[in-house]
Amino acid sequence: MASPLSLDDVDNALLRTYVLGCHIMNHHHVVDAYGHLSVRLSPSVFLMCRYMAPALVARRDDLVLYYVDTGEAVHPETAPRGFSERYIHSEVYKAYPGVQAVIHSHSLDVVPFSLVSSSSYSSSSSTATPLRACIHIAGFLGTAVPVWDATAAYYDAHPDVDRSMLVNNTAMGASLAQALGRGKSEAEGLPLNSVALMRGHGYVCTGESIEMVVAKAIYTAQNARVQMDAMRLSAASGVSGLSGDILFFDEREAGDTGRTTIQGAAKPWPLWMAEVTADPLYRIEL
Ligand SMILES: [Zn+2]
Repeated sequence: MASPLSLDDVDNALLRTYVLGCHIMNHHHVVDAYGHLSVRLSPSVFLMCRYMAPALVARRDDLVLYYVDTGEAVHPETAPRGFSERYIHSEVYKAYPGVQAVIHSHSLDVVPFSLVSSSSYSSSSSTATPLRACIHIAGFLGTAVPVWDATAAYYDAHPDVDRSMLVNNTAMGASLAQALGRGKSEAEGLPLNSVALMRGHGYVCTGESIEMVVAKAIYTAQNARVQMDAMRLSAASGVSGLSGDILFFDEREAGDTGRTTIQGAAKPWPLWMAEVTADPLYRIEL
């Protein structure tokens, strides 16, 4: 299939789904002024909005095509300013050909789980308190979501660069993409983990469609809220003399509940569309 080189070559229904995805992410507090969604259009080209809050994406002029290989605009002469962190998206698409949509979020519900680490300055992704599946709709998180530390990437490859924690070049993006892990899903071109946290920053979430990645991003933040509440309750139970054990999902339960999300992504989408369509903040002019 030839790569689409113009927005005119892209199905308008896909563009509308993309804009709806941006609005739904904002409505569910996955993004605010920061954070972004992208969708793959072909093996070599993906689409994301220009440098703007996702809630305000509305028109064709807000959308930009980028090359997977470089993260640079297909039409640099006319492209509006893009996100400096678009290399998160380009490098995930490059590493995992089966990934069709990517979200980067700064959700404050999730960030705490990126900070409690036993290996802050190594490339290890082990954590003392990992984010892990504890609600059935977020089984895709598994038993330990990996944490990527930008500082490890600076030490490994870029000792002299500015330590802004931003993924603003292909090397940083490739390092982050690697943290998603390769394994049993490699034959389908998918990462081992569909989510990776970014220390002190946020997370990256991958999916096989816009609807799926939006659902996963929302459920990741919901799982983080529930897990944090369970940990607080557990601590309080310990004080009161109860055991306070948190009954997390095991590997099998996480795997089986993970399939629930995949099968059920179509169910919430009409509701989420109706919510943003009814809110005058969100406009679609496509
Ligand atoms: Zn960011």
